[in-house]
Amino acid sequence: MTDPTAAPAGGRGPAEVLRAPNPVDVSFEFFPPKTAEMEARLWETVERLAPLAPRFVSVTYGAGGTTRERTHATVARIRRETTLEPAAHLTCIGATRDEIDEVARQYWAAGIRHVVALRGDAPADSGPYVPYPGGYDFAADLVGGLKRVADFEITVAAYPETHPEASSAEADLDNLKRKIDAGAGRAITQFFFDPAVFFRFRDRARAAGIQLPIVPGILPVTNFAQVCKFAAACGAAVPDWLGAQFEGLDRDPETRRLVAATVAAEQVRALQAGGVREFHFYTLNRADLSFAICHILGVRPPAAAAADRGATP
Ligand SMILES: Cc1cc2nc3c(=O)[nH]c(=O)nc-3n(C[C@H](O)[C@H](O)[C@H](O)COP(=O)(O)OP(=O)(O)OC[C@H]3O[C@@H](n4cnc5c(N)ncnc54)[C@H](O)[C@@H]3O)c2cc1C
Repeated sequence: MTDPTAAPAGGRGPAEVLRAPNPVDVSFEFFPPKTAEMEARLWETVERLAPLAPRFVSVTYGAGGTTRERTHATVARIRRETTLEPAAHLTCIGATRDEIDEVARQYWAAGIRHVVALRGDAPADSGPYVPYPGGYDFAADLVGGLKRVADFEITVAAYPETHPEASSAEADLDNLKRKIDAGAGRAITQFFFDPAVFFRFRDRARAAGIQLPIVPGILPVTNFAQVCKFAAACGAAVPDWLGAQFEGLDRDPETRRLVAATVAAEQVRALQAGGVREFHFYTLNRADLSFAICHILGVRPPAAAAADRGATP
């Protein structure tokens, strides 16, 4: 497994040759659509982003395990109808070990080889998290269970600003280590806005002996109020400067999108300058901002890059 923060080593395989013009690797996260209209929008998004040759695309598992069928249907369709590598999110919520193992077996049978393994959260208003009777208690247990079902590639979550329920930042890092020891091969971070937060976390993780790729999760801000809600729920800090950027734009979506692209571009370029070579985008099933930020990072569809090279000024 390569370290996304290290310079590329020599000796490229066929997949790397296809991706060669792109200086960084990217992945995109989608949520399973609820309606036919949302499904059509998701497929437009998938088609727009596919030429960027992402390393994988992942599909979330609804809070409380509410989207089991839709998540399965979406990853299975990506597997059947595209050349993209799908990854299915799976949580410990509301199911026994046997039930979760069965879901994993169905994924394997459908050709899904990559799982993003998470604990998940208790359903809203149901109080603090309590493991489901007979279920997997925490993500590390789920990772171990999945590995017993089949040799999945497994990605887990990491928290640059510490998971809100962790007893300490050290305990949270120990937990990340347990997930790796159980078989995870990559961690994607919760979203954050200050690149320094990511670098400090990466340094602490490396000092604690964690060598696997830690991929920053990038949330392009389309709706500032919604982002504040997400951030409050997951313990991510929203810096004052970010609020100031979106002030007065509630009824001006056009300018908001331009500001959003600028903010995210500054964030990813700072991360890239700090050696980050792999990014995960929380797309919220919209292509435009993620596509633009990838373009800024130098990630282009091969045809567009070739056409530009051949174009006369
Ligand atoms: C990239 C990414 C994708 C996500 N996708 C989804 C999704 O699709 N669906 C969804 O519902 N949620 C998703 N989430 C949210 C996630 O489910 C929540 O953040 C959840 O609260 C924690 O999940 P985890 O896998 O990090 O849990 P864990 O790694 O199990 O950790 C949860 C908390 O428990 C603590 N802990 C772990 N083990 C123990 C132990 N043995 N004893 C005591 N404390 C312990 C940890 O320090 C931490 O505070 C995602 C988050 C990220 C970052």
